[in-house]
Amino acid sequence: MSDSRTSPAPQRLRIVIRGAVQGVGFRPFIYRLATQMQLAGWITNTGSGVCIEVQAQPETLTEFLMRIEREQPPRASIQSLESTILDPLDWSGFEIRESSEEGPKSVLVLPDIATCPDCLAELFDSSNRRFCYPFTNCTNCGPRFTIIESLPYDRPRTSMKDFPMCPDCEGEYHDPADRRFHAQPNACPACGPHLELWDAGGSSLSGPDQAILQATRALQAGAILAVKGIGGFHLVVDAAADDAVRRLRERKHREEKPFALMYPSVEAVRADCAVSQLEGRLLMSPESPIVLLNRRNASTASVSEDVAPRNPYLGVMLPYSPIHHLLLREFGRPIVATSGNLSDEPIAIDEHEALQRLGSIADLFLVHDRPIVRHVDDSVVRIMAGREMVVRRARGFAPLPVHLPHAATRTVLAVGAHLKSAIALSNGKNVFVSQHIGDLETKDSYEAFTRVIRDFGGLYESEPQEIVCDMHPEYLSTKFAHTLSKRPFPVQHHWAHVASCMAENELDGEVMGVSWDGTGFGTDGTIWGGEFLVAKGGSFERIGTLRPFRLAGADRAIKEPRRTALGLLAEIFPPEEFRSRDFFGAAPFAQGQVELLLQMIEKGLNAPWTSSVGRLFDGVASLAGLRHTVRYEGQAAMELEFALQAGGDDAYEFIVGRPERAAGGIHDFVLIDWEQVVRAVLDDRHKGVATGVIARRFHNALVALIARMAEIYDIPKIALTGGCFQNRYLTERAVEVLRAKGCQVYWHQRVPPNDGGIALGQIYARILEQRSTEQS
Ligand code: ZN
Ligand code: ZN
Ligand code: FE
Repeated sequence: MSDSRTSPAPQRLRIVIRGAVQGVGFRPFIYRLATQMQLAGWITNTGSGVCIEVQAQPETLTEFLMRIEREQPPRASIQSLESTILDPLDWSGFEIRESSEEGPKSVLVLPDIATCPDCLAELFDSSNRRFCYPFTNCTNCGPRFTIIESLPYDRPRTSMKDFPMCPDCEGEYHDPADRRFHAQPNACPACGPHLELWDAGGSSLSGPDQAILQATRALQAGAILAVKGIGGFHLVVDAAADDAVRRLRERKHREEKPFALMYPSVEAVRADCAVSQLEGRLLMSPESPIVLLNRRNASTASVSEDVAPRNPYLGVMLPYSPIHHLLLREFGRPIVATSGNLSDEPIAIDEHEALQRLGSIADLFLVHDRPIVRHVDDSVVRIMAGREMVVRRARGFAPLPVHLPHAATRTVLAVGAHLKSAIALSNGKNVFVSQHIGDLETKDSYEAFTRVIRDFGGLYESEPQEIVCDMHPEYLSTKFAHTLSKRPFPVQHHWAHVASCMAENELDGEVMGVSWDGTGFGTDGTIWGGEFLVAKGGSFERIGTLRPFRLAGADRAIKEPRRTALGLLAEIFPPEEFRSRDFFGAAPFAQGQVELLLQMIEKGLNAPWTSSVGRLFDGVASLAGLRHTVRYEGQAAMELEFALQAGGDDAYEFIVGRPERAAGGIHDFVLIDWEQVVRAVLDDRHKGVATGVIARRFHNALVALIARMAEIYDIPKIALTGGCFQNRYLTERAVEVLRAKGCQVYWHQRVPPNDGGIALGQIYARILEQRSTEQS
């Protein structure tokens, strides 16, 4: 018997792969694999991933599938792989076909990727044709999300469309063996974008050859430089120059909020900061985020005191584009690299817009002619309980989807909350979470918010069938939701926080959520923020909260922790006591102000009730004498965390009240009293106990409270969420103590615990709700 008679007939296999498979060298990888295995067929990019057809003997096809899974390019991520067996056709050879534009656009748009080692080596190789070329990239690195105009991801649909490739680049682009095969932003000095240095009036001072050198000289002389990068402008100064840093603060109207730094190398970072193995890997990762690192010393020669006043951390990143590599190589020392905007507005992306908006801040503009399609800020990551926590999700992470355990039956758009705005769009089991937008306080940021919503709808060619929003009637995001839909679906803020944490940890069923933040609108119309919720069957039950107190002046209290402190005191002491006793030590109030605020509190005039743990942090920071007014949101709470002297289990005590069962409730409800805590803080302050010890006892009290609630309710799964869990000590201690009790603890990793994660939670809360109505 001959071989040809025993071997089965060849088969044609169609393989549809969805996932992060475009712009990562996936097609060349398949090309090489198929050619090596001598398979006939083709591959093409589609709107939802790639489609491959090959034909061979069945066992060869099985091997091909296994090798795809095993040997796929490092940046690729296969979410699903479907194969269909079809009749064979008369084919020879393997080819890469033009992209098809048909079908639904559920492809994963890739985030921007930091310069890879190969490109970096070329950048500083004087014999290479891309020596010192600031737009060097390949299929393994470079801009993606910030240059894509529409899908599928191909050069004519990117902001590189106006740069026709020279013959050399064209050759690389079409050579399957080349690292730049189908690298959409491929460019070189002959054909690609160029740098220029402008003065504040937009006149060119130097061209491509001299721009980096001139910009560096200006930095050395103390100038403020606006640098157009990947996802927008940075404002840059010499980090060591006190004058320049102070001038930047004045002009940017940013009084004390820490500035991010860019260091020339990880070795230079290590000289100033403690860098763990995990932190080192993060700094050098393709995402290249800002990492919050512990300083080695309170002051360092390379970093001015004014970069991060009274802050034991520095926000540090490494160069992530060739522009930054060239600038930092030339400058040789760390620079301040903060968002190119005025206070909390969105980051500027266009050089002419930048002249307008940053003209009063920057002295010089280092710009280029590759358009940025959409703004993407730098991401911020902090190591928490042994793993990374993204506290600002933008470059490197957005717009990768979060994978849910359950699919949405309809396309849902979530508009998020108000501060740290981000939106989200569902697509089956995927949720695309947008890049960080900012606080919806200004006209510009509100416009950016509506632009991102339009952009996401356009990019994914998706018409939302349902809109979800916060319950707060006054949030601009809620108001906008009402313009999109007659009946947007409101999700309570703290339930959305819990659902967000459940979503990224792929949880459903019964979970106890500890949802602690600054402020959020409650179902009873008061301001919540110290909530224990039980999630079950698509809804939640509030099982515990802090004893409410009044915020004199509402939003003013957020800027003035002393007002919150007064609200706490007014709850537990009679008015006479304020005349005879000085609660604050050196009184932080003006003459007669206490009387006025007490009246507001007593009459309930512009003094809403709150149960917020974030505000309790503020109040305690003020009573401990640490901070009575703040310059940015969350400053007092952060400083209380920073002041903490670790090394003891001593704690104040919250009193958990008598359980009560509400009508129709499944669980008991408890009120948690903070009075003992506040009295103990006053006593300790009076006794002269160190602020660091007061801070420790307060943090430990919160941890003990979570542990106590876990005991009372005996729910094994516990989710820690809300802005308060950006606090490292609080999160790590809570995780430790709860694990010791045998609980399964979940917290945030890829999506922020703060309001940047709300949109994801809004979508997941809606999905859980729909599932429970379908099942019942
Ligand atoms: Zn590269
Ligand atoms: Zn070229
Ligand atoms: Fe919140």
